[in-house]
Parts: sequence; C-alpha cells; structure tokens
Amino acid sequence: MEILEQQSEKIQEKSQAGKISILSPRLANQIAAGEVVERPASTIKELLENSIDAGATQIFIDIEQGGTKLIRVRDNGAGIFKDDLVLSLERHATSKIKELDDLEGVSSLGFRGEALASIASVSRLTLVSSTMEGGEGWSVRAEGQNMDAVVKLAAHGRGTTVEVRDLFFNTPARRKFLRTEKTEFSHLEEVVKRLALSHMFIGFQLNHNQRTVLSLKAASSQIDIERRVASICGPAFMENALSVEMNVAAEDGNLALSGWMGLPTFSRSQSDLQYFFVNGRMVRDRVVNHAVRKAYKDVLYHGRHPAYVLFLSLNPKTVDVNVHPTKHEVRFRNNREVHDFLYRSLYRAIADVRPGDEVNALASASSNISDMAPKQGSMPLTSPPEQAPLAETLVYSETLAQPDQQTGHFNAHSGQAYARGNSGHSSLNVAEQLAGYKNLHPDSSGINTESDAEIPPLGFALAQLKGIYILAENKEGLVVVDAHAAHERITYENMKCAYQAQGIQAQPLLVPVNIVVSTKEADCAENQYEVFNALGFQLERMGPESIMVRQVPALLRDSDVESLVRDVLSDLIAHGSSDRIQAAMNEVLSTMACHGSVRANRQLSIPEMNALLRDMERTERSGQCNHGRPTWTVQTLEELDRLFLRGR
Ligand code: ADP
Ligand code: MG
Repeated sequence: MEILEQQSEKIQEKSQAGKISILSPRLANQIAAGEVVERPASTIKELLENSIDAGATQIFIDIEQGGTKLIRVRDNGAGIFKDDLVLSLERHATSKIKELDDLEGVSSLGFRGEALASIASVSRLTLVSSTMEGGEGWSVRAEGQNMDAVVKLAAHGRGTTVEVRDLFFNTPARRKFLRTEKTEFSHLEEVVKRLALSHMFIGFQLNHNQRTVLSLKAASSQIDIERRVASICGPAFMENALSVEMNVAAEDGNLALSGWMGLPTFSRSQSDLQYFFVNGRMVRDRVVNHAVRKAYKDVLYHGRHPAYVLFLSLNPKTVDVNVHPTKHEVRFRNNREVHDFLYRSLYRAIADVRPGDEVNALASASSNISDMAPKQGSMPLTSPPEQAPLAETLVYSETLAQPDQQTGHFNAHSGQAYARGNSGHSSLNVAEQLAGYKNLHPDSSGINTESDAEIPPLGFALAQLKGIYILAENKEGLVVVDAHAAHERITYENMKCAYQAQGIQAQPLLVPVNIVVSTKEADCAENQYEVFNALGFQLERMGPESIMVRQVPALLRDSDVESLVRDVLSDLIAHGSSDRIQAAMNEVLSTMACHGSVRANRQLSIPEMNALLRDMERTERSGQCNHGRPTWTVQTLEELDRLFLRGR
C-alpha cells in the first residue's frame, strides 16, 4: 500500500513538472554540440573544414594532450571580417549558403553554421582573424556559457587561428567518455590524414605535444601527390596499387573516378586502409561499400579487406550531403548508376592486371604506377575475355575443363591430360625456346635472340622445383610461379567464360521447394520473376506469404536453394539488386577448378610449363589465385646481384 502511494506521488511530481519553456541558446548549443563535437577528432574535423573552405593553402595544427588540453588551427585563408567575428560564433551563422536552393549542390565542406557555436559552448575558444596581409587582426573569446563579445585588436597575418582549450571543461559527462590521450590523438591524426588525402594542394603540419607528427608540403606535381599518398597510406600501398582513372558521361553530368586501388594480393585483415571521397568529402556509404566489395569479391580471400584511396566526383546536384550532422553520409540521387559505375570501373581495373603489366610495374618501380591505369573511356564490361587462338595453347590447353555438351556439367577432373604432355623435352635453353615461340607467332619479325623485347612477360620455363614451382627466365630475371594456384585461376576463368557463353542451364527440381516468406518478399519474388528466370530459377507465388521454387540452375542443384532464394530476396529489397546467385555459381565453379587443377608434386614438362605461362599471360586476374594469393613473383637480376653482393 505504502509503495503504491509513493509511486503515485512520484507520478504526480513528474506530471507537475511538465511546464514548457524555451531552452537558453547556450544550453541549446551545448545539447546540439553533442551531435557535432563528440571528441577532439570531430573538433579538428570542423576546424580544418573551415580552413579549407576559406581557401587556405597552408594549415598548422598544434595539439596538446590528445586535444583535450589544446587544439589550435592556424590557416592562411580568406579570414573573417571584424564585423562578422562575433556572429561567426553564433549558431546557424554561416557565410556558405543563403537560401534553401543553395543546399542543392553545396560545394563547401561546411554549410550548417553550427560548428563554431557548438565548439565554443563546450570549451574555451579564441578566434583571431584577419582579412588583409600585414593588416591588423581581431580576436574574440568565448568560454562555455559566456561569450566575451568584445572584439579586441590582435596581431595576425591574413588568415584565421582558432584555439580551443579545455574541451568539455563544462560538460563532465562528455569528458568521461574520452579515452586515453593516445587514443584520442590517433583518432585526431586519422582525421587530419583523411583531409590531407583529399586536399593535396594544401600543406599540413601536425604537432602533438610540441613534436611534429605529420609534415606534408602542398603538392605541385603528380610525384608530390603520389608521395603524399605514400606517406599517409604507407609506401607499400603505393607499390601495390593500381592507379584508377575512369570517366563516363551520365544523364546529369559526368561521373569520374580516380585514385588508387590496392592489388588483391595487398589485402588486409582490417578495413583500415579504405578512403573514399565524394566530391572531396570523405564518406562511409553502403552503396559505395557494396560496389567495391563486389568488384574485389572474386579475387579476395574470405574475410580480407581491400585497400583503396578513391575519389568520386559527380554533379553536386545529384548528391545530398545534408543527411547527417557530421556529413559522413551522403545520398546519391541515382544509387544504381553510381553503384554500377564504381563496380564496373574497379572490376575492370582488377581484371586488366596481367603478368605483362605487373612485370613492367615491378621493374620500373612505383613511379610508373599510372602506366597501368585502365584506359579512359567506354568499357566493354559484359564481354567475356578473349579466347586464345588455338595454335598458341600447346599441350596444356587440352586440360582445360570443357563443359559436357550433354549435361551442361563440367568435367572437373580433366587434369590427367597433363600426363599426355610431352615430357621428353627436358631442358631447352631460352634461345631455343624463343625460336619455338616465334614459330608459333609467324607474324613477329625476324628471330633475334638478343632482343629482350621478344621474350614474353613471364619468360620461358627453366625447370620445376619440388613439383610445386615453375622456375622461368624472363627479361627481368627469375620468375617463380605456383603452378597449382595459376592453373586453378586459369581453369576457373575459363569455366566462367564457357559457362557464360553457353548460357545458364536450368534444371527442374524433382521435389519443388516451398518457402514461407513475408508478403513483401513474396511481392518482390513476383515482381522480379524475370530476374530470377534469367538466372535459371523458376519461382511461383503460391499465396500471400509463400513461394515455390520449381527450377534452379543445374550448377546449383545440390546447394541450399531455400536460403539462397531468401538471401537474394532480402538483397533485392535492400539494394534493388543481388549478386548472390552469381556468387554461388562462381563458388561452385571455383571448387571445381580447384579439384581439376594441377596438384602439387606433379612433374610438368618444359612445353607444359611454357603453355601454362602463356595462358597466365592472357587470362584475366591471373595475378592471384581464386583465394587471393599471388600466383607468381619475379626476382630481378639486380635483386639477385644484390643478394650475392655482385657489383655490376
Ligand atoms: P559553417 O562552416 O557551417 O559555415 P561554422 O560554425 O563552422 O559554420 O563557421 C561559421 C562561419 O565562420 C563560416 O561560415 C565562415 O564564414 C566563418 N569561418 C569559420 N572558420 C573560418 C576560417 N578558418 N577562415 C575563414 N572563415 C571562417
Ligand atoms: Mg564549418
């Protein structure tokens, strides 16, 4: 009884306290600050974006104690007029947009006019600025609740300095969420790096506790740009990256993608080396992630993450940047178009890596990375890779799995054909092999064994090591190939081509599978009937919440049809597209390729090895096996010389 009374008293208390009043502007700012200023890293992001928007070409950053004691940003940008100084600290005060229409196509990083107000409300902030070179500067201070609106004369060159001391000194709850100095600083440093990546022509210097941590000079050439990427992402990234440069005309203006994508063999265990910028703004976006993952899918080990630094530019009117207070998310007006453009560009770039490219790239080091750039312009994306002319395929090609005409299934165990290879040829020298090679290439001009240019990228086989590795000589030096991995990749790519060429064979199920789904999913299945059909599935709606699978692609007859269909439906609902069926088929093909490929410890003859090398040169993605491991490497003569301390 007593308890009941207590409760009812409490309820009364609460209901009496329901008087509404307007929050003071300061309190409103402090509450709002939570959205923008979460920690030192988010503070530096806002300050740097302001400097960039002001057209700065040099930015100095001083940090103390991970940013909790001091964050100071000095730039040489346009500065703030004396009369605007006080206003700039007010909420909803901005010089970047004036009316709603301006929001449609913002080109500045900021536009919400709330960063300085928010930061000022939770710290001790001083703003000093000048709009004239050698002229006088003016300062204004704010300390949490109180703004010292007095504008004072201060010495300052053209540009602005914002000094933020004692972040969250008046909001203990926030302060409690801060991590160690080291952690906060590493977050902050990451923000600086991102902005430095997307603004190559601005110099950045970052000091922590009076020590210089980053010093990046403003870039004035392609080399400078590459150097900056290397110093931010590590030199290994640049050495293992393809430069990407793609441009297509779209309805609302061009779509352009540029930057660098790590080779599949340079994958990482974490997604920590992924930078994607949309019109210069770093974003994390589902559409983008999906497209990138899809492009790398076939060549990455499960659970590995690609590395990339990519810049997408498109008509600002087709991207909404005002989706999130920190502007980390964007919304594309045409998701599908952006997704497909990204996917195709990246997929093409990966597919275009053949041994020839890589040998050149390795030989001429990272400065030549851009030579590997896929060609600009239209991309024939759906056509299967060229099939090799028969004469060139030698013994080895007999072993490629051929689809069985009757059943449409692959004979995955055709590896025995290797045994038929002529193992009588044991060790031909390179000159002899070159002569043989030339005979197969009647169009090539007179045989000149001296000329390096005539040696194919992966060279000629010398021997096989331990039944596993093929040793070959090319113009750079020694090539080592993992025969099984390489063969597996080639078999897989060939199977995919053959499979695509002959069309998908469907197979009716003896016992159709009934699946209970949501109404939404059943609707989707009904609407996307054609999509399923094209992939070899036949679905039928049986009721408001049930569908029946009557037919599946022959290749997938032994897989878990029900969960595959479910997953595809949920993809279709979430993204409007799904590649799961294709992925499931590729998986089956890949397993078959693996079983059908040269096992380790099989002796190969020299012509067999050469045939494999030639096939690698013309197969897409042959630089890595189906699991993303490399298939070959080269040891240049210089490297060997160095190894043996042999001066030349
Ligand atoms: P926003 O960037 O969204 O406009 P802010 O609160 O970050 O809002 O900044 C308010 C205004 O103060 C800006 O619109 C700009 O006019 C001015 N400002 C802030 N920082 C700088 C700077 N470093 N250089 C020049 N002007 C600045
Ligand atoms: Mg701003």
